[in-house]
Amino acid sequence: MGKTDPHMSKIKALIAFRAFFVTVLLGSFAFFSIGNGAFPYPKAVFNLIEVLYGLTIIYALLLQRAKPKPFAYVQVVLDVFAALALIYFTGGIESWFSFLLILIVIASGTVIDKRAAFVTASLSSILYGAMLDLQYWRMIPVPYGLVLYEKDFLYNIFSNIVALYVCAYLTGQLSSSLERTSLTLEKRLTDFRKLSVFNKEVAENMPSGLMTTDAEGRILSLNRAGEAITGLDRAVEEDIRIQSIFPFIKDLNKPFERAEGEMSGGKKTIGLTISAMKTAQGEPTGYICIFSDLTEIKKMQQEMQLRQKWAAIGELSANIAHEIRNPLASLRGAVEMLHRGGTSSEQQESLMLMVLSEADRLNRIITDFLMYSRPAKNEPEPVELDVLLKSTLEILGKSAPAGVVIRPDIETLRVTADPGRLQQVFYNLVLNAFEAMSANGSAGGVLTVSGKKENGVVRIKFADTGQGIDPKDTEKVFFPFFTTKDAGTGLGLSIALRIMEDHGGNIRFRSEPGRGTEFTVTLPVSGKAPANV
Ligand code: ADP
Ligand code: MG
Repeated sequence: MGKTDPHMSKIKALIAFRAFFVTVLLGSFAFFSIGNGAFPYPKAVFNLIEVLYGLTIIYALLLQRAKPKPFAYVQVVLDVFAALALIYFTGGIESWFSFLLILIVIASGTVIDKRAAFVTASLSSILYGAMLDLQYWRMIPVPYGLVLYEKDFLYNIFSNIVALYVCAYLTGQLSSSLERTSLTLEKRLTDFRKLSVFNKEVAENMPSGLMTTDAEGRILSLNRAGEAITGLDRAVEEDIRIQSIFPFIKDLNKPFERAEGEMSGGKKTIGLTISAMKTAQGEPTGYICIFSDLTEIKKMQQEMQLRQKWAAIGELSANIAHEIRNPLASLRGAVEMLHRGGTSSEQQESLMLMVLSEADRLNRIITDFLMYSRPAKNEPEPVELDVLLKSTLEILGKSAPAGVVIRPDIETLRVTADPGRLQQVFYNLVLNAFEAMSANGSAGGVLTVSGKKENGVVRIKFADTGQGIDPKDTEKVFFPFFTTKDAGTGLGLSIALRIMEDHGGNIRFRSEPGRGTEFTVTLPVSGKAPANV
């Protein structure tokens, strides 16, 4: 029970009001001797005041221990008796104090409930009616004026009873609607509390770190996951700035959404999003930061990359072994036949030539492969690329297959690059085009080479009218050792791509099987910046 009980505070008010009433109203009557002569028992009124004061003291003492409802009932019933006593002492029907009963009904309705109001009204009606009846029949020693007849008594009793019940009804109505309102209010309050507890739980139990800061970036709150990730103890630490936890945050004012970086001296990788909290007027009040620990994921990614690298190296080694075994087998066969003897001098001659050509082939594979795996250092210098390209085409044109024409369309191109290596790229692409246009005994074709500069990038296109690239090979043509030719090494395009990537450039192609292929080389003019492709 205690202080919080709403009944108790009302009971206190009742006791206080009664004490006030007794003091002011009755006390002043007695003090100014107003009642003298007018009341039949002025002395008894004094005694009544004494009794009521005594009761007030007892009530006050009981206040902490008593149960509110019965305690209030006892008081109200005693009040009814006290009021009746006062009415009795002050002349019964002629008393000025019958209104007190109405006050008590109102009090019991507000302090206790609707029912109590009706109980009090009934008790008061019965006792008041009985007292006035007894007075009329002169069975109690309360005198009354001779001018009062039976109907006056009846009318007085009737009007008082009506007043008492009407008051009980109205008070009950008021107090129950008041109760309803306070109940809904209470429920709202609990709902609200539940909601805020729920919100707190969500923030506490989410797997990501959640941090809020003020406008300067000082940490205001941190959830449990946040504690675990940052290693901060929110109960102890104070006045820490978010930048000191996540040093990769450069500027809070700069609006950014996502960031990734390291904390605790590189031990942890953190991914985070920051958003500004703003008032309805758009003024910044602070920041919300949601973050998670990416250390494990990063580690896994690195492992994956390493594994992929090893897989690629394995595949490459298998390819090299395969490429070297074939010429080795022919070499061995030829030497074995020579060793066995019994061959004509003509056969010996052709076997020797075969040994030489296979040895050359082996050498070429190894040279090409070395070029791919350990490419020459880039030595960029200002290059007149159009001149270089034209002269390369001129040299190659001399060895073009029958029926193949080269059509250059090259504007002035100045770049910073390694001319020797670029020439090798052009070589490989032109030779591939030649081979595509002379394949399957076709009667040649046209190789259009165009060179243009746009947006700081040089684009050189090699468009042939050859056999084209089978769509199923699209992914593979740049792989080392991928070839569709009997004598091919499959290293040409992989070397070319490697060289262009070293220049910050790229190679792309479009192809239509049976109609032709267009390779596009992109190169940044500076030779350094990543190509805008
Ligand atoms: P190689 O020329 O030794 O075969 P490359 O790396 O130069 O090796 O080329 C790989 C493969 O790409 C070729 O075998 C061929 O199938 C295909 N290819 C390259 N260029 C062209 C082209 N211009 N037209 C058609 N196919 C091409
Ligand atoms: Mg080639």
